[in-house]
Amino acid sequence: MDTQPAGGQHPRPTPRVVVGILRAVRGWLIAVTGGVLLFGCYLGVSAETDPGRQLPYFVSGGLGGLALVFLGSALLVADQIDAAAKARGRLDRQVDDLHRLIVAAASAPAPATPTTVADPAAGGQDDGGLFAVPAGRTYHRRTCEMIASKPAQPVDSAQIAARGLTPCTICEPKPAA
Ligand SMILES: [Zn+2]
Repeated sequence: MDTQPAGGQHPRPTPRVVVGILRAVRGWLIAVTGGVLLFGCYLGVSAETDPGRQLPYFVSGGLGGLALVFLGSALLVADQIDAAAKARGRLDRQVDDLHRLIVAAASAPAPATPTTVADPAAGGQDDGGLFAVPAGRTYHRRTCEMIASKPAQPVDSAQIAARGLTPCTICEPKPAA
């Protein structure tokens, strides 16, 4: 097998890529080499009937092949463990980031939520609520300028009916149900 092609016509892959490929396949290469040695040993042993002459095949091919198969397998397992550890490290970092985000969000001051308490002076949005000045005869939208500087209070349909309030003609609030 010619793993070193002659000539520099082809752009060589960067060493980093070569190292990566070698790392990825070295376990298989070594294990397969061991397998080939074992097979050669088997062929050699089957060709010899004299146990004394079989021994060298066992020693050189058999033991060497077995050693290579074990080494290759060990490398493959080590690579698997390495890859798993790297993946776990990535996961740990992601969980850390997530945790930091959650902690930061939890410790940040809560965003001001629009209060449902009536406060026309605060210039709240018109959320459909109805308001009336305590001594007034009309009811208004929250945003009505007629109550902007007055102590208006929220009123519901029952209060509007009880006080006989009429809708403001400026802001034209929805009829009280
Ligand atoms: Zn009004």
